[in-house]
Amino acid sequence: MTNSILSDWTTPFELAPFAQISDDDFAPALDQAMAAHNAEIDAIAANTEAPSFANTVEALEAAGEDLNKVLSVFFTVAGADSNPKREELQRAFSPKLAAHFAAISSNKALFSRVADLWDRRDGLDLTEEQARVLMLSHRGFVRAGAALEGDADARMQEIKSRLATLGTSFTQNLLADERDWYMDLSEDDLHGLPDFVVDAARAAGKEKGVDGPVVTLSRSIIVPFLQFSPRRDLREKAYRAWTARGANGGETDNREIAAEILTLRQERAQLLGYDSFADYKLETEMARTPGRVRDLLMQVWEPATAQADADAEVLTEMMQDDGVNGPLEAWDWRYYAEKRRKAEHDLDEAALKPYLQLDRMIEASFACANRLFGLEFAPLDVPLYHPDCRAWEVTRNGQHVAVFIGDYFARGSKRSGAWCSAMRAQAKFPKVQAPVVINVCNFAKGDPALLSYDDARTLFHEFGHALHQMLSNVTYESISGTSVARDFVELPSQLYEHWLEVPEVLAEYATHAETGEPMPQEMLAKVLNAANFDQGFQTVEYVASALVDLAFHDGAAPADPMVKQAEMLAELGMPHAIGMRHATPHFAHVFAGDGYSSGYYSYMWSEVMDADAFAAFEEAGGAFDAERAKALEDNILSTGGSREAEDLYLAFRGRLPGVEALLKGRGLIAA
Ligand SMILES: [Zn+2]
Repeated sequence: MTNSILSDWTTPFELAPFAQISDDDFAPALDQAMAAHNAEIDAIAANTEAPSFANTVEALEAAGEDLNKVLSVFFTVAGADSNPKREELQRAFSPKLAAHFAAISSNKALFSRVADLWDRRDGLDLTEEQARVLMLSHRGFVRAGAALEGDADARMQEIKSRLATLGTSFTQNLLADERDWYMDLSEDDLHGLPDFVVDAARAAGKEKGVDGPVVTLSRSIIVPFLQFSPRRDLREKAYRAWTARGANGGETDNREIAAEILTLRQERAQLLGYDSFADYKLETEMARTPGRVRDLLMQVWEPATAQADADAEVLTEMMQDDGVNGPLEAWDWRYYAEKRRKAEHDLDEAALKPYLQLDRMIEASFACANRLFGLEFAPLDVPLYHPDCRAWEVTRNGQHVAVFIGDYFARGSKRSGAWCSAMRAQAKFPKVQAPVVINVCNFAKGDPALLSYDDARTLFHEFGHALHQMLSNVTYESISGTSVARDFVELPSQLYEHWLEVPEVLAEYATHAETGEPMPQEMLAKVLNAANFDQGFQTVEYVASALVDLAFHDGAAPADPMVKQAEMLAELGMPHAIGMRHATPHFAHVFAGDGYSSGYYSYMWSEVMDADAFAAFEEAGGAFDAERAKALEDNILSTGGSREAEDLYLAFRGRLPGVEALLKGRGLIAA
C-alpha cells in the first residue's frame, strides 16, 4: 500500500491531499523518504564516473523529493494545527532530521566530488546561477567541517557536541529562573493597572498555585507592569529580578556557560581557518565583515542616544513633579514614557479597529501587488488542513504564478506569532514547479474580523515574504525565494509594510465596518505618529545588545563576558536609565544556539534597507512608481539567492543603503 503522502498528488495544482493524510502516515513516510534520500546521496557519492556539475551538484539538487513532500506537509500542520500526536512526532523527528542532514554535510566522499568541481570551476562552462550553486554547496561543506582531517576533525566533533549541550543548559537555566520567581501583589498593589494586566496577574497567580495576583518574569506581564504600576518600590523589585535572570548564582547561573560558549566558538572558527567567529558567521551575510556591522550600528547609536538623553530629561521632570527626587532609573523609564505617550499620542484602539477589517486588509495587500506587479488573485475552492484556511490562485496576464494560502485566525492548535512558508518552492530543475505559499497569522475571529494596526502591519509583512516566494524565478530550488542571507531576508517583508501606510491605500481600504466611511485623517495621523514614540529608548536598548554581541565574537573570546559587557557599555556611554534589551546571562538569541550569534544586528540591518528602499519609490514619483516596481521584482523579488545580496541591492538602488531614511522613519533626525 502506498503512503498517501508519498503517492502522486493528483489534486488541483498538486496541492498536498490533506483529506487523505492521517497522522499515522507521517512516521513511516519520513522513514521511507529519509532512506530514499540516503540511497540517492550514496549513489552520488559512490559514482565511479568523474564528477560533473550534472552528476554531482544537480543530482544533489534533485535528491530528496519525497523528503521535501513529507516535511512540507508535516511542518505545516505541526505549526498551524497541532495535536498531542503531532507534538510527539515533532519531538521524535527533530533529532532524526538533525542527524540526517549533519551526516550529509560531513560526507567525505560527497565533499571530495564537490571540491574537485570547485577546483576546476573555471573550466566547467557554468551559467552564473550554476556557478553560484556550486560555490554555495562547496562553502556549506567547508563550513560544516567536511574538509577537516584527523585530530582537527575529531576536535570539531567534540566542540559541536559540547556547544549543543551548553546551548540546551543555557535555555533550561533561563526557563528555571523565569519559572521560579514571582512577586505577590495585594489588592492595593493592583491600583493603576489596566484590566488586561490585572487579569493576567490573577491568571498567573492561579497558575503558580497562590491565592491572589502575582507578577511573573514573562514579558507579557512584566513589561506592562513596569509601564503601568505607580508603585516605584515594586517596579524596582520586579525590574531587578527580571534583569537578574541567568545571573542568580547557584545551579542555574549562565555566566560561566556563556564564557565557555564564546571560547569554543572562537576555537571552532579558527579550526575552519577564520580569524574570529564573527568573520565565520558574517561570511554568508550581506554585511560580510564585523567592521561593516559596527559602522552601521554606530551611525544609528549616536542619534539614538541623543534622542534618549533628551527624552530622559522630560521623563525626569515628570518624575520630579510626582515628588520623586534623584535620578531617573531603569525601572522608571517605561512608567513615565507610558504617561507621556498617553498625554501626547493617545490612540483609542477600540475606535480604530472597526476601520481595519481583515477582509479589506487582505484586499488591500492584493491590490498593492496588482498595481506594483500585475498579479491577480482568484479565490480557489480546495480542501486544506483546516476549515479556516483560504486559498487563491495567483496569475499574471492569464498565466499561473502560484497558489497562495491564508490561515489567519488564532486557535489553540496553532503556535503563536505569524510566519510565511513555501509548501512548494519555485524551481525549474529537475522539473518546472510553481510555488505554493502560505501565510499563517493569529488574528482574533469576529464577524466581521477586525484587526489592530499591528495586526494589519503583520498581514502586510507576511505577504511581503509571500511575494518573495511567489515571484521567484530561478532554476534551482536551493536558492529560490527566501533562500537568501539572514540579514537580507526581512527586506521584502519589512518593505511591503510601507504600502499599508500609503494614505491612498488606507483611504480606500480602511473603511468602517458599519458605516463604510474611510478612516478620518486625524486618526490616521495619530496611528502613524504613535508608531514612532519612544524610539530613542527602543533603539538604544536594541543597539547596545547588538554591539555587545558583535564584540563578544570579534577577536579572542573574552575571559569574563560580564567584565567585557560592562567595559563596552561604559565605552559607549550607555544612558543611565536604559538597560540592554538582552544582557548576557539571558541573551538567548546569542547563547541558546548560534542562529543569531554575531547576528543580532540583522533586524536593524534589514530595517535600514527597507526604509532606504521605500525612499527609492518616494524619490521616483510615488509608492506605485512602475519603473521602481519593475526594478524591485527584477533585482530582489525574483532573484532568490542567485547573486550576492549586496549586488542585488546595488542593482535595485544604484547605491548601497544609507541610514538616513531609517533615522527619519524613527523620528531620530528631522524628516
Ligand atoms: Zn519576517
